[in-house]
Amino acid sequence: MNKMGKTGIVIALVVVVTIVFIAKQKKTASEGPSNSSQMVPRLVDLGADKCIPCKMMAPILEELKAQYAGRMDVDFIDVWENPDEKVKYNIKLIPTQIFYDASGKELFRHEGFYSKEDILRKWVELGVTFEETISKPPVFERFEPSEVDARLKDQICYLCDGDIDPKTLVTVKAEKGDVRLCGPHCYFIMYSCLTEDKTGFENKVSVADFTSGESVPLTQAMFLAGADKQGRPVLYAYATADAANQAQQASGGNVIGLKALKQNELSHRCGFCDRACYPQDAAEVIVEGGIHTWGCCSHCALGVAARVGKDIEIHEKDRLTGDPVVVKTLNGSIASLEPSTAVAWFGQRQKPDGSWSSAGCFHQGFFTSTENLEKWVQQNPYETGKLISIHQALADKIKLSPEQIQKACKIGECSPK
Ligand SMILES: [Zn+2]
Ligand SMILES: [Zn+2]
Repeated sequence: MNKMGKTGIVIALVVVVTIVFIAKQKKTASEGPSNSSQMVPRLVDLGADKCIPCKMMAPILEELKAQYAGRMDVDFIDVWENPDEKVKYNIKLIPTQIFYDASGKELFRHEGFYSKEDILRKWVELGVTFEETISKPPVFERFEPSEVDARLKDQICYLCDGDIDPKTLVTVKAEKGDVRLCGPHCYFIMYSCLTEDKTGFENKVSVADFTSGESVPLTQAMFLAGADKQGRPVLYAYATADAANQAQQASGGNVIGLKALKQNELSHRCGFCDRACYPQDAAEVIVEGGIHTWGCCSHCALGVAARVGKDIEIHEKDRLTGDPVVVKTLNGSIASLEPSTAVAWFGQRQKPDGSWSSAGCFHQGFFTSTENLEKWVQQNPYETGKLISIHQALADKIKLSPEQIQKACKIGECSPK
């Protein structure tokens, strides 16, 4: 080998070694010092305990740490105490926040004070949603009812699947036969989401007289609207105004005709699917800007964020205990959840082709804890479905297309067939 050849090999070796060295350096720099559980996105705040903006960061970091436990690692590094870290992370100012994705790749860094809202917005902007980065299996599910539903078909409400009391029965004449509902409220929910022309529809409907159980045309009935011990509306139909007045004297409430009743029943609507609902049963939804609306179920309440494309605040009740669950969204993600242990039940039902789909609004709910959810499922032997996180429940709504949102519960599912 001549001199030129040898020099060439040496140069080539030097180049290779240099490239490997640079690549290694780069890898270390971009990944940041490794973290024990780098399976989730990570936020590192580099600061010191005596710098003022750093001190302002401390409670924010604590909140994020608690709220996103298991979904985002939040670390604070004091660079005055650990000057080496300043070099390792290559920072110029304190505080500096560095955002890493679940694989440890640096996505973004920010210098100075950074509010919680800005941090959460930035994660969304960076395309990091905390739910997708972890694949925790559902901790609870039941796809076989715990009891066989032995009720006859005509004893089950077409809309809510509840028992039908013959004294509050509402019957709608439909092409394929009678559709039976547990009471006037379920009738109005169904009526509110009819997609067909409603002209003359009421002539197909009859209600049971609460005293005799006899069938009365809806358009001729009088109604007694009252409240039960918990303050929830109750509604009874009577064949005559006299009968309704007599009942009113005995138990209180207001006697009203169909027109006024219909107005009352249709005055509160779900902000997602447009179903009629009672505020006592529904989740309250406050849309950014101050508009108040309702979610006929907790999943519908989350759907309002998808429908209006704005941040929302939901006030819902645990289905077992009635304890409050408060959810706030930010750019289509969950910004806060109170209590942080709250979970959702996704009620599902098997279709004749074997696949599973949503069991509908009556079979969904939020719970303050997994234990409450499990208790509720045990108390409701026919419920089937699974526990999902509220993050997942929101994500499922956010991913709907505008067409799917438009059709929400107006796909004729609730119409009598
Ligand atoms: Zn019903
Ligand atoms: Zn709804």
